[in-house]
Amino acid sequence: MNETVIINYRLPEELAVIKGIACLHCGQDWLRSYRVKGKGNTFLLCAECESVWLPGQDLTQDTDDYLSEFLGDPPTGSQWDMIERVDDNK
Ligand SMILES: [Zn+2]
Repeated sequence: MNETVIINYRLPEELAVIKGIACLHCGQDWLRSYRVKGKGNTFLLCAECESVWLPGQDLTQDTDDYLSEFLGDPPTGSQWDMIERVDDNK
């Protein structure tokens, strides 16, 4: 039993970034920490499909949150100007 199985386990978002959690929704990218500019709250985002996982949300479960909804439906194309990457390498 050398396998490390991460299942039914709520990973802190920092740990999720370190371990490299693939997006459960599309499987095409890693989840990374972002925050809304000017605000402190971070969330995990898949840059590929724009799925959002909020802190404390189970990363082994698919999410219903999308970036545009999360930001309150801003005009198309402006979502990425409203958020910024949180440096994972500190
Ligand atoms: Zn995705």
